[in-house]
Amino acid sequence: MDHAMKVDLDAGYWLTATHRCTQCRHEAPVTVLVVTEGCEHWNGVMWSIDQPSFVIDVGCELPLEVVRQRWLLNPNLGMPTVGERTVSDLANVCQHCGTRIEDDDLVEPGGPFLPSNPASAVLVSCTPLEQPFTANEAEVWEEDALPGLLQRFSQRD
Ligand SMILES: [Zn+2]
Repeated sequence: MDHAMKVDLDAGYWLTATHRCTQCRHEAPVTVLVVTEGCEHWNGVMWSIDQPSFVIDVGCELPLEVVRQRWLLNPNLGMPTVGERTVSDLANVCQHCGTRIEDDDLVEPGGPFLPSNPASAVLVSCTPLEQPFTANEAEVWEEDALPGLLQRFSQRD
């Protein structure tokens, strides 16, 4: 678990699953970002990311193509309109009641992206990033179970 001011994503995946909203109890589609190849930058120091890790709490503006790909996977997330600033973060929001769903709740063990039951891994869809990009404000979150699960997610088809 590290904090990073900047994350270069040379390769990675979008993961999409559903999560039960804590407010209204409906299932809502949720999407998170995983980096498999890239670097972290922190206080002028750079180092390679050596295992697949979640990229959470992305607080920067991202290239429109990146936002578009995520929107195609999960239209619930909202697409920035022309004239507006590009999306300022990648927060998931419940489509039923509008409650913000924090990344921390999604990437914890037993959550939708770290299922404790291997059978639940088939409920996660995995889409490669179309292009490398840099997230200027983001946190890299390592979970030791993720690399093994990622193989299940990506071999599902
Ligand atoms: Zn809700």
